Amino acid sequence: MENQIYQVLARKYRPRTFAEVAGQTAIIKKLQQAISNNRVPHAFLFAGPRGVGKTTIARIFARALNCAEGPAVEPCNRCIFCREIYEGTSMDFLEIDGASNRGIEEIRSLREAVSLRPARARYKIYLIDEVHMLTGEAFNALLKTLEEPPEYAKFIFATTAPEKIPPTIVSRCQRYDFKPLGFDEISDMIKMVVESEGYTIEHEALKKLVETGSGSLRDILGYLDQIIVLAEGKTITTVLTREVLGIASGENVWQMIDTFVSGDTKQAILFLHRMVSEGKDITNLLGAMARKMQIFIWNAYGINITDEELDKIWIERFKPVGAGKFIRGLELVMQTKEKIRYEPLELVLAELLCFNLVETLKTPLEKIETTIVSDNTAAQQETQNEQMEKKQNVLSDSDIKERVSEDTPLSKIINSWDEILLRIKKGKPLVYAALREGRPVKIEDNCIHIAFGANFSFLCQKVTENRQIVEKTLEKFLGVHYTIRCFVSNSEKKTPLNENPRVKEIIEFFGGGEIVETEE
Ligand SMILES: [Zn+2]
Repeated sequence: MENQIYQVLARKYRPRTFAEVAGQTAIIKKLQQAISNNRVPHAFLFAGPRGVGKTTIARIFARALNCAEGPAVEPCNRCIFCREIYEGTSMDFLEIDGASNRGIEEIRSLREAVSLRPARARYKIYLIDEVHMLTGEAFNALLKTLEEPPEYAKFIFATTAPEKIPPTIVSRCQRYDFKPLGFDEISDMIKMVVESEGYTIEHEALKKLVETGSGSLRDILGYLDQIIVLAEGKTITTVLTREVLGIASGENVWQMIDTFVSGDTKQAILFLHRMVSEGKDITNLLGAMARKMQIFIWNAYGINITDEELDKIWIERFKPVGAGKFIRGLELVMQTKEKIRYEPLELVLAELLCFNLVETLKTPLEKIETTIVSDNTAAQQETQNEQMEKKQNVLSDSDIKERVSEDTPLSKIINSWDEILLRIKKGKPLVYAALREGRPVKIEDNCIHIAFGANFSFLCQKVTENRQIVEKTLEKFLGVHYTIRCFVSNSEKKTPLNENPRVKEIIEFFGGGEIVETEE
């Protein structure tokens, strides 16, 4: 029986020395220099986003200052002073949460406590987290202390919003701006944690994990906790990672944006409630939403960052909405994300955001449908030559039947087609969903011609865009390099669309795209 209580990774792997901290090297160097030069100021301001090491570094710094063998550039972590700070029992190191102790009374009693000498240690050190939450009166009281601090007192103020702190306070602090951690810094740390836990992690899973955490090591370790609990065996797979992260990122986020674009306020609110009831953190959800909006805007200006199939499809769908609306939408998301952190009624703020986003992003559905139709038409008319070729490539059913005899390369491909599809499905389910509506009908100069029914021009286009994926799979499977060419054929059998469950499935895959019947 496992009798140890599971300790969350962020806590288990919390660095005990400066050397163990991921990133922030410039800040650490400066703090260590202050100690070794014996020039430690009275007050520090640690500013920066959440989860990048502000309180961790503050605690190590406090130990380094009060260590029996110090002040030293690293705490010994063995003496009574170090241990008490580490265990949170030190009388001379006090952590105060600015969000819940924001009033004048709390700061007054802090002032009284500061006037008493340290109980045992060298310094009396105060760490006030989220100090920007203090009230104006409380800041005034704090300022008096900072103006004439006792020589044994040290203050470390941590904040995610330094601009909300009065300049009179800021000017009395030595300021340190913490940067979000870089990709390599985080992935090195995650690899270390994963290996120490006896697991391995797939490269793509690691990438997904780091991207979703947007620079916050604490958030990423939180996700890793959930993933490890669910992992079967000792490998953290991409599939599982996507599953655990998926709800707050990927498809659900696009679907949520879709409720705004459709102008469906009720669905937007219900969607939000579902996310919250599934235990999703609202701030993370807004962060994921902001990232999707950002890549949409990038795309509109010709900056193509994403290599995700899913993103490309949604970006295409939302094109008629326009970058302008998305820029205003992104602004709203960022404003709410900022407000929401310490607002006890965060759900109310998130709901308000939904109302505002519907107003900002809603675009009549007809407009979206029309654009898809005209996009297709445009694509089909791209060049006269191409269209001529297309016409030549439209084969009649009898034509096709004639060509398929038993041992031609084409018949081999047709016989293995289902298996080829399955291979593509494993890596690229969306390409698979589109490709299975086409069928190979001809091979010419090592080029496989794939016909799609006239009502599947959208899928035909999707496969064409992803033809390299199909070609690679074909090469792996057949050992011969083929190119593919997709075309829409009038002679391909039309399925009564409403009766076809596979069509429904595809529409869901593509996030509710409309079936557009096009005339050749
Ligand atoms: Zn020590």
